[in-house]
Amino acid sequence: GVGSADALYHLHSQTNLQSHVTQGPLVMVRGEGPYVFDEQGKRYLEGMGGLWCASLGFSDQRLVDAATIQMKKLPYYHTFNHRSSDTASMLAAKVASLSPMPDPRVFFATSGSEANDSMVKMAWSYHIARGEPARRKIIARDRAFHGSTVMGASLSGLTNMHAAFGLPLEGIVRVACPYPYRDAREGESEISYVERLVRDLEDRIAEEGAHTIAAFIAEPIIGAGGVIVPPAGYFEQVQQVLKRHGILMLADEIICGFGRTGNWFGSQTFGMTPDMMACAKGLSSGYAPISCVIVHGEVFETLQRHSGKTGGFGHGFTYSGHPLSAAVALEALAIYEEMDLPARSRHLGEVLHRELGRLSDHPLVGDIRGTGFIAGIELVADKVGRMPFDATLGMGAQVERATRSHGLIVRSMGDVIALSPPYILDDAQVVDMVATLKLALDDVV
Ligand code: PLP
Repeated sequence: GVGSADALYHLHSQTNLQSHVTQGPLVMVRGEGPYVFDEQGKRYLEGMGGLWCASLGFSDQRLVDAATIQMKKLPYYHTFNHRSSDTASMLAAKVASLSPMPDPRVFFATSGSEANDSMVKMAWSYHIARGEPARRKIIARDRAFHGSTVMGASLSGLTNMHAAFGLPLEGIVRVACPYPYRDAREGESEISYVERLVRDLEDRIAEEGAHTIAAFIAEPIIGAGGVIVPPAGYFEQVQQVLKRHGILMLADEIICGFGRTGNWFGSQTFGMTPDMMACAKGLSSGYAPISCVIVHGEVFETLQRHSGKTGGFGHGFTYSGHPLSAAVALEALAIYEEMDLPARSRHLGEVLHRELGRLSDHPLVGDIRGTGFIAGIELVADKVGRMPFDATLGMGAQVERATRSHGLIVRSMGDVIALSPPYILDDAQVVDMVATLKLALDDVV
């Protein structure tokens, strides 16, 4: 069957390759609305939209039509040497119009990792163009996830992405991310916690030398690291420090972009004013691979001048602005505008967090986090002392398995359970989803 073919031939992403041989794959064959169906015909509500991306569920006919029409009309064209396609050009204009940045330009790639790599290269190029070639280091935070390419993994703060590969690359400066539930000190107010982190950042910049630092990269809400929401004022204060030291702010909006936090972009929700933003996932609702970097007008002008002098901007991919992906993304954005996605996300987020609130006295639940239509539920052995479970118990994985047997897909990241559902759920489906999660928690307790 398909399962044994998979176990024999498929080298999986982000998977324990050893246990896969015995455990086998979970193979999906069909999607319908927010549901996916496996080989046996079992139906699951996809509470993660796949990997935080299938914002419109799994059977949107308008996206299918947009893809079909484009496939027949012009299945491929590229963006090197002044070339473009009508869809890529229109998508650039559309994304620029949605972006909160002044006079933005939009660069396309295929994956989130490539978008982040592109931001780093553009940050380097920006500083070279301005006569500060020594600015090479990138400040990245612990618990961050920025992708799996050599640079994406290096920027990431998840240790399992480093040790097996001899990463990170040199020149990554690691700082703490705010994680109030775990890392604020006993009795420390949120304001003092943020001030402490910002002081530490300032000290670290002084130690390294601001003249050696190109950029700071951050997810507005940390996703794979445990759905960690920044405290009020954090990004505003970080931003002031960066500005003072000529360090660019790079926002990794790959999860947060296109509605997740209740605004078009997470930067808007959390007071970031980035110099570049990387987006992917929701841009096409995951139906076709596409990512982009939205570049601030001033950064673009510098790159533009430099490319005029050097004979060209030496960066970009075969599939940058792929017409099929661009057509799907254009249609997804049209649908988002029609449904007023930011308002829809805020509404669904209210329902979700109201329902999750009912789980707060569950014995396994330590913390419930999120802003907009995204949530993280941190499981603990002891609620009062916030004591984590012994990692070898794999509590998160147990809950994930239990939800699956009840027909719900969530994602466990250590002992944090994540939800990032499609925006096409109605209120009753959100209520059901949380009720199912409660059943699974009760199974495991
Ligand atoms: N950045 C963030 C915040 C992500 O969540 C992801 C993927 O989950 C990436 C970057 C990498 O994106 P991709 O897997 O498309 O390369």
